[in-house]
Amino acid sequence: MSFRALVTDKDAAGVVQSSVQQLDDARLPEGNVTVDIDWAGLNYKDGLVLTGAGGLVRNYPHVAGIDFAGIVRDSADPRYVAGQPVVLTGWRVGEAHWGGYAERARVNADWLVPLPDGLSTRDAMIVGTAGLTAMLSINRLEAAGLTPAAGDVLVTGAAGGVGSIATAMLGRLGYDVTALSGRPQHAEALLALGASAVMSRDEFLAAPDKPLESARWAAAIDSVGGKVLGKLLKQVNYGGAVAALGNAGGIGLETNVLPFILRGVTLIGIDSVMQPYATRVAAWSRIVELFDPAVYGSLVHEIGLEDLPAAAKDIIAGNVRGRLLVKPR
Ligand code: NDP
Repeated sequence: MSFRALVTDKDAAGVVQSSVQQLDDARLPEGNVTVDIDWAGLNYKDGLVLTGAGGLVRNYPHVAGIDFAGIVRDSADPRYVAGQPVVLTGWRVGEAHWGGYAERARVNADWLVPLPDGLSTRDAMIVGTAGLTAMLSINRLEAAGLTPAAGDVLVTGAAGGVGSIATAMLGRLGYDVTALSGRPQHAEALLALGASAVMSRDEFLAAPDKPLESARWAAAIDSVGGKVLGKLLKQVNYGGAVAALGNAGGIGLETNVLPFILRGVTLIGIDSVMQPYATRVAAWSRIVELFDPAVYGSLVHEIGLEDLPAAAKDIIAGNVRGRLLVKPR
């Protein structure tokens, strides 16, 4: 038996390149569940892996793809049986372990989640790591006291994967969402998704910096980091909270302690990769209630394995809108 995969390799000069190859099943890594992959996603981190930026991969040749959904082909673990639909995100799959850019994957059963009822494998990958991270962020903000009555919520990187799904789910929950985007040409799509207002990133950053600025956000979900996170922290209402989940705009954080000590602002870190099973299952169940893949339809684009190297450059350049779905066969 053999399967198609996008194999990423690094040459002697350190150049990382990928090509579609037919691999024997014996090449699959260790694991106790084999999955026939229906769909994978393209995330910012996949862009880093495929372009070789960020040094996330230690061992080449490698198969990237940090999330996928498919059907169990065979299982040596009693929790999973052949024919069962499953979804996988995180656990450093696609970085330290071969991932979803293939027709087949072999993984550890502990990393899988049974596909929730009401979600197809395609729907699950529209959500993917991006949607799970958006859901985890909302759950943490609500646990910190956020309610729709508290005021406006700022979502940064709003035209990207996490930002657009966060916007849609917050809108569905009745929040007033301001979508901050560097691409105002997508304003209409963001309003249709559930944003109440769209703000240009350039204008947001151009406003003069002060140690503490006018308070205007009950909470924020931030995919960007860097200057954007530093500035928005100074604009959070008394007692508000910010979920910091990404670094699309840089890993730096220039701010000061005044938002924390004068307004009691909370900065919440979000990691989707190592979340325990129970938290994942609870998040996926809530996603099924809140996320309507049909509303998101215009933001979904399908590509094949051979399209991934170019798409990876696009996502790193901030040129991908919504979610790119990868059909490996
Ligand atoms: P996307 O590329 O889909 O979205 C990122 C968005 O950030 C872009 O669409 C763009 O939004 C904005 N952006 C891009 N470049 C810049 C820049 N230089 N300065 C400011 N804004 C920028 O990525 P994802 O949604 O998949 O991921 C977003 C971030 O979250 C990434 O850093 C990713 O690594 C991280 N992440 C973290 C997870 C976790 O577990 N903590 C899980 C998933 C993702 P716009 O065009 O609207 O301005």
